[in-house]
Amino acid sequence: MATDLARRKPKDIVYEHDLTVEWRDGVIAHYPFFALRAACPCAGCVDELTGTRTLKEENIPKDVTVRTAEYVGNYALQFFWSDNHNTGIYSFRYLRELYDLANARGGGPEGPHSLKS
Ligand SMILES: [Zn+2]
Repeated sequence: MATDLARRKPKDIVYEHDLTVEWRDGVIAHYPFFALRAACPCAGCVDELTGTRTLKEENIPKDVTVRTAEYVGNYALQFFWSDNHNTGIYSFRYLRELYDLANARGGGPEGPHSLKS
C-alpha cells in the first residue's frame, strides 16, 4: 500500500490560473477551476444515496477560484473556494480519474467531467 500511495500522490500541485497537478508518471494535468468546482464530490453537491449531482452549474460563479488548497492526510486535497465552499475532499484517485476520463474523451466541451484544458 505504501508504494501505491507513493505512486499516486502527485509530485507537484500548483493553483494559480488553474489547478495543475504533476503526477508521478510524468503526466501534467490541468484542471480549470470552474470544472473542478463543478465536480465537487461532497455530500452537499452529490446525493450520497443516488450518486446524482445536486449542484447546478448555474449556481457556480463563472470566475470561481481556489483560495487555498490543503493536503488531507496522504491521499487527498481539500479546496477552499472563492464561493466559500470547502467541504469537498478530492482524493488523488478521484483527481486522476477526472483527468483520465477527460483524456479518454479527447477533450470536447468544458463541463464538470471535461477537465482537460
Ligand atoms: Zn461540494
